[in-house]
Amino acid sequence: MDDQTGPAPLQTGPAPSPGAAGSSAEHDQALLAQVRADLDAVDAALARLEEGTYGRCATCGEPIGDERLAVEPTTLHCAQHAAGPGL
Ligand SMILES: [Zn+2]
Repeated sequence: MDDQTGPAPLQTGPAPSPGAAGSSAEHDQALLAQVRADLDAVDAALARLEEGTYGRCATCGEPIGDERLAVEPTTLHCAQHAAGPGL
């Protein structure tokens, strides 16, 4: 006969709370992905610069505008089409 008086706890230590410990490796991966995306955008912008299509909306072909390009130099679309939902 076993003389167990209750269910034994499966965990032998405190469970790590998600986010508290923080895996720096995952954080680095996220940063790296962001940097790669930025690099892709810059590459695309440079390619359009060589083609002579830089600064024009990829959707309507209209000039994007200096103000918008100053804020987001690698943007592909004018303000109208960048903000348009589902386009
Ligand atoms: Zn446009």
